[in-house]
This record gives sequence, C-alpha cells and structure tokens, in this order.
Amino acid sequence: MESTDIIIIGAGVGGLSAAAYLAQAGRKVVVLEQEHHIGGTAHVFERGGFVFPTGPKSVTMPAHILDYLCELGVEELPCFARDSFQVRRGAMDVMISAPLHEIKEQLLEFFPGEQDGILTVFNVLEEVMATLDVIKPEDLTITTESPTLAESWDAVSAEEFMDSHLHDERLKDLLGSQGTSEPEMSVALLARMWYFMSKKGIWYPGGGICKIPELLAMRVRAFGGEIRLGERVEHIMVHRGTATGVELSGGAKIKSDHVISNADYKETIFDLLPHNSITANRQEAISRMPLTSSNFTIFLGVKSERLDLSAIRGHHLIVKLMEGKPVPWELKRPRIEDFLQDEIWLSLWSKHDPGLAPPGCEALIINVTAPFEHFASLEGSGRCHEQYHSMKEKMADALVAAASRVVPGLSRAVVVREVATPLTYKDLGHRSNGSVAGWSWRFGDHSGPMAQSLAITPVRGLLMVGMQSFTSLFYGGMGTALYSGRYAAAIVLSETCVHERDKLRGE
Ligand SMILES: Cc1cc2nc3c(=O)[nH]c(=O)nc-3n(C[C@H](O)[C@H](O)[C@H](O)COP(=O)(O)OP(=O)(O)OC[C@H]3O[C@@H](n4cnc5c(N)ncnc54)[C@H](O)[C@@H]3O)c2cc1C
Repeated sequence: MESTDIIIIGAGVGGLSAAAYLAQAGRKVVVLEQEHHIGGTAHVFERGGFVFPTGPKSVTMPAHILDYLCELGVEELPCFARDSFQVRRGAMDVMISAPLHEIKEQLLEFFPGEQDGILTVFNVLEEVMATLDVIKPEDLTITTESPTLAESWDAVSAEEFMDSHLHDERLKDLLGSQGTSEPEMSVALLARMWYFMSKKGIWYPGGGICKIPELLAMRVRAFGGEIRLGERVEHIMVHRGTATGVELSGGAKIKSDHVISNADYKETIFDLLPHNSITANRQEAISRMPLTSSNFTIFLGVKSERLDLSAIRGHHLIVKLMEGKPVPWELKRPRIEDFLQDEIWLSLWSKHDPGLAPPGCEALIINVTAPFEHFASLEGSGRCHEQYHSMKEKMADALVAAASRVVPGLSRAVVVREVATPLTYKDLGHRSNGSVAGWSWRFGDHSGPMAQSLAITPVRGLLMVGMQSFTSLFYGGMGTALYSGRYAAAIVLSETCVHERDKLRGE
C-alpha cells in the first residue's frame, strides 16, 4: 500500500496552505482534490468570454495574506486593489467602504434627528475597533477571566443595541448589518465587520481571485509536495481512534500518520469517518451546529451600450427597492414584486479588471440570500430536475427585472447568464447546505470563546483546516482559511517534535 507522511483532503486555500507549510518543513505531503482544479471555492469559471468567481469576490486583511505568502517564500507578491461598497435604500445612498468618521458625517446629514443615537453607536464601534488592532487570532480562542472590551460586547446583540439607540429602520439595518437586512450579529462581531469595511478595507487581488491558491500550489510543488487532481477521498481510515490514512473513490488506499481535511466539517465527520469513530453525543452536537445561509446568484454578461450602470458608484451596490420584510422563499413567485423587499447585492465584477469581460461588455453579479431548505425538496433527477431548472430560470428572470429598476436596461442588455442556487453551492461548492460563509454569525448561536478552533478533532491524527475550522472568520473567509493551514501545520510539526524527542529519550 502506498504511504506518505501527511495526506491533505482538498486543495482549497486551507488545504494548500497546510500543504505548503508542511512541505516547507520537509514533510512528504500528498494533496488529494476531487475536482480537476485547485482553489476550491476560490476559483473562476468562463462563459462566453466572461470570467466569473465561483465563490469569493474579494478578501480582507491582505497584509496577513502577504505575510503568510512571504513566509512560504513567494517572491512575486500580488498587488491588491480596494473594493468600494455602497448601500442604497429609498433616498438614502451611502458609501460604506470609507473611514468611519466619513460614514458618520453622511448619516448625520441624512438623519439629523438621530444625532445622539448615531454618536453613541459610532463611539462604541470605534472603541471596540481600536482593540482589534492588537488582538491576535490566538487571543480569540480562549476565554479570559475578566472579559475584555470585545468579549463584553460579544455578549450584546446588535439588534438590541441598535433598537435602544436608533429609531429609523434604515439606519438600524445599515449600521447593524452593513446593508439593508435586520441586524443579527453580536456588537463585537459587527465592530469587526466595520473594522474590515471601513478601516482595513476589502480588496481584490491582482491576477484574479484564484491568484492566492495558485501561488500556494506553486509553493507546495516547489517544496516537493504533490497535488493530485480528480482524486476523491471516500473514507478516512481509522484504527483504535487514530487516523491511519484514506481510501479513494476507486478503492485505492494510502497510509499516513496524519490526515488533514479541508473538506466540509460535517461531511468529514458524518461521511468520511467510520460511524463509530466519535461518540453519539458528539455527533448529535455537531449535527446541530448552525451554518451561515446560502445564496441565489445570477452571473450576467451584459452589453455596456444597452444599459445604464451609473447607479453603481463603486464595485458593489447593496439595495432594497421597497420597504417591508422580504417575501420568504417558500412564498416567492417568479415576479418582480417578490424581490423588491430583498437585500439585492449587485457587483460590477469587471470593474476590477476589464479582462473579465469582452470589449464593450461588463460582467455583473446579482445575489440575494436563499435558504437551502427551500431548494432541498427539488434535489434529485427526473421531473424534479426539470422543475428545479424551470424554477431557477423564472426566479432569475424576476430578480433581473427587479434589478432593472436600479440598472435601467439590464434585462435587454444580457448576452450571457448563469444561475447558481443553494444546490449549486452544495454540489459544486461541496459545502453542507450550500452554506457560503462558514458557521453561523448569529448572536447567541455560539457559546465559549469568540473564535473557537475546531482544528483538533476527536480522532487522533485527524485535523481540520479551511474556513470551517474556526467558529469565526477573524481574517475574513480566505484569510482565515490561509491562517488555518498554518495553524494545523504548527500542530503537526509540534507533535512530531514531541514524538521525536520521546524517541531520542527512549534511545
Ligand atoms: C458564494 C461564496 C462567496 C464567498 N465570498 C467570499 C468573499 O467574498 N471573501 C472571502 O474571503 N471568502 C468568501 N467565501 C468563502 C471562501 O469559500 C473562502 O474564502 C475560502 O476560499 C474557503 O477555503 P477553504 O479552505 O475553506 O476551502 P474550500 O474552498 O471549500 O475548498 C475545499 C476543497 O476540498 C475539496 N474536497 C472536499 N471534499 C473532498 C473529498 N472528499 N475528496 C477530495 N477533495 C475534497 C473540494 O473539492 C474543494 O476544492 C465565499 C464562498 C462562497 C461559496
């Protein structure tokens, strides 16, 4: 049977990062990726001359990403260009990717009657944000005896906080969600989101969103690691509570002392491990761990001369076209009226790089939140399959028509269209319930430290990496995934050190 030091399941950012650090330390690493491309969700696809992202559109905390790439010996580092975000709701039209004091001025001008509340909310956000400069991820994984400022605000719901200081729903939603949705995070997590949005920035990597995994894969190979594409791991082999290797879908087995999974957390526990590897109580607790929701996304290639994009002042426009609660997906019909109250996110994707669209055209992405459960009943084949395709195309027609209210001419400008639903994110993104942003961000859904590490599993020798290996995305999705690989590699290397020291002592 083939054997290696370390097997890594999945060539997403987390898996490649772990592989690069371990290969750099001289370990024999094999990365097994079921798809025929690296990068996982940080990948792009091409349709009719347009290039679209399968997952992330931009990243945060690029300084950390660059530090890690430097540690791995990347010489030609990517440049990052800052993304700009705008929120529009009725007459309110605010650029939110600006320093906090500029956002405050815009809001004071628009809501003069809410001055006291606005000043209080900004004071708290500024105070918590000031502490984030010095907090490191490892500080977040422990609970301190006397709570820090951030920990105290982690125990307060942003919804309650906004309700107690502000009156206008548009203002509460904007400050509490950075968009037009009701606030759902804790105040501490919200402050972190403002830290990214207004202070550190959200950035697009030069060379494309897939540049970071590409650089990591180059380093893995340069250090002698191996990346095998089109190799799906079907089972993680376990003997007496310890991982001993993996079995591939073709039946071949590879032995190794360490297995690092970049696959979905729940899939790793429930599908890849033998059923008796962890206790029933633990399985029950994991099955109940809530995830973030999924998306309904439309990727559009449009002819520039046929539409008016002037409403989109930056790269991203978040808009609510009519007041009221969004129509729930189970009640939505494919008609414009049923999308007007949604938070619609329009991204002028090709503004990052004209090479993402043919000359005279733009690539535009529209998305709204969508729950997996509504689409789950349509999963499968045969009649259901046709019903699913027809439903998603009709819903896309309605959403494009709704978006035309802010981008006049949109419906007639479309030359290429692709639609992704929560089922797409589950089947092609390989994430449970098509979840797009890791574990739930909702206030009260997690207890314990602000960013618990899930890297160490109940099975010895099995570690997790990727954005789900921490309960909170402290460096954003891609930054946290990159950090997780470094974190898991450090665990493997320190365990190896202890093992080698014990061996020497024994001799
Ligand atoms: C729609 C969407 C939008 C997003 N937007 C952003 C954003 O704007 N900014 C941001 O930073 N992040 C965003 N993210 C999060 C993004 O997924 C992360 O940034 C990051 O790229 C995730 O990396 P990961 O290491 O967790 O693994 P993933 O990207 O999930 O990769 C895991 C890899 O493991 C492979 N794999 C799984 N199971 C097996 C198996 N059994 N055998 C072999 N291989 C297997 C998969 O094929 C995949 O290649 C978004 C995600 C989605 C889906």
